[in-house]
Amino acid sequence: MAAITAWRSDPDAPCRCPVCGASGLAIVDRSARPYAEWYVLTCESCGLDATVHIPMAGVPET
Ligand SMILES: [Zn+2]
Repeated sequence: MAAITAWRSDPDAPCRCPVCGASGLAIVDRSARPYAEWYVLTCESCGLDATVHIPMAGVPET
């Protein structure tokens, strides 16, 4: 989740995999705004393929 936060604040910066720590984490924004945010995280180093779902209701804008 920290990787998502960092990516949202600086989308152009290289992301680190939350699992193996390797840089080059790929994050795809598949959000269905304004209802929810979906991010697909894929890492070639460890094979991570995770979907992160962030409900937008009650989530403070930062
Ligand atoms: Zn990884």
